[in-house]
Amino acid sequence: MTTSYWLAEPFVLRTSRTSNPVDVEIVGAGVTGCSCALMLAEGGLRVRVHEAGRVASGASGRNGGFALRGGAMPYDAARAQLGRDRARTLWQLTETALTRVRSLAGDAFRRVGSLRLAADDTEGERLAREFDALREDGFDAAWVDKLPTPLDRLFRCAVVHPGDGALDPARWVRGIAEQACAAGAEIAEASRVGATELQGPIVVLAADGLLGAAGCPELGPLVWPVRGQMLATEPLGERLYERPHYARDGFDYWQQLPDGRLVAGGKRDLDVETEFTVDDATTPPIQEKLEELVTQLVGRLPRITHRWAGIWGETADRLPIVGEVPGRAGVWVAGGYSGHGNVLGLACGELVARAILGERPAELALFDPRRFA
Ligand SMILES: Cc1cc2nc3c(=O)[nH]c(=O)nc-3n(C[C@H](O)[C@H](O)[C@H](O)COP(=O)(O)OP(=O)(O)OC[C@H]3O[C@@H](n4cnc5c(N)ncnc54)[C@H](O)[C@@H]3O)c2cc1C
Repeated sequence: MTTSYWLAEPFVLRTSRTSNPVDVEIVGAGVTGCSCALMLAEGGLRVRVHEAGRVASGASGRNGGFALRGGAMPYDAARAQLGRDRARTLWQLTETALTRVRSLAGDAFRRVGSLRLAADDTEGERLAREFDALREDGFDAAWVDKLPTPLDRLFRCAVVHPGDGALDPARWVRGIAEQACAAGAEIAEASRVGATELQGPIVVLAADGLLGAAGCPELGPLVWPVRGQMLATEPLGERLYERPHYARDGFDYWQQLPDGRLVAGGKRDLDVETEFTVDDATTPPIQEKLEELVTQLVGRLPRITHRWAGIWGETADRLPIVGEVPGRAGVWVAGGYSGHGNVLGLACGELVARAILGERPAELALFDPRRFA
């Protein structure tokens, strides 16, 4: 098992551990499970979260730290897939969630925007289509023709998404976990469970890429595991990148941290088949490609201090699957963010909590598990 740069920061969760009966049991203490637990505990329910590893030890503590609005697909593609109103609803949901990230995350979040880059003219045309669709529907975005060095040597053009930002993802989720515990939730680390053995009248499965193995086999074919690999460099002597950057439709991504180090990931398209796995090991071919990317971005290869991988959950239509599991009354699922779960995970964890607390949030219809029936 690899350890991410983010998870290397020491952390001890202060939480009580009892065997008292609870109203809701949650499987998984990533962003989804912790945000769901926080809202449920604040709503007065007794909650226990079971985490096979440690808080944020799954994808939530291993990702690129991009806090992006929207879904896994560009906005114009979402409009084609969902229709204009539903796409707009999805984007608005995540913009609201980004505001909530800011209120919950403290110094783990920097609202610096994000930059989506085009590696060639064809990608530039795709960027233009997304930019036009966003602007038509009233969403903020800025077109960039003239890129600063070294981006001008590597990319054609870009779009700034001003409301996005950069997270220290493990610190962010550990912070939500602490707030959930302070609100009365219990989080049991080193507690691997299966959905069927849990006693709570309500169960929430929040295991994203590992949903199929969390005791609900019918979810396995709907959300499949995908591996993403990353690395971190030593701090660079110069500031090159002010915000998270991504290119080649998200197959390359990087951000420079406040201390100067570069965190970069992607290159999964080099070996797509082997990256459908639950094994969070790194592989030499993809790590070498990531080193090449860093060399292009920095002009030399700095010392690599951390290498890691993580597993996310992908669905056939790249939309999350969120709601009560068909045929399993009282068992809820939230996951399948298709590599885009930092903000959507918060939004969907909270949608499930609100539904359990008695609301019927309209946005749940976007992610209904029955669409795959
Ligand atoms: C390399 C990489 C880069 C990424 N980059 C980004 C990015 O920049 N921006 C973005 O928005 N998204 C990104 N993602 C996706 C994002 O990290 C995930 O979608 C999100 O963290 C999912 O959160 P979660 O809480 O649903 O699941 P996870 O964080 O995976 O948490 C699930 C937890 O469930 C636990 N678990 C599983 N089975 C059991 C069981 N049986 N019993 C108890 N516990 C169990 C696991 O140990 C795990 O801790 C990336 C993912 C990876 C891997």
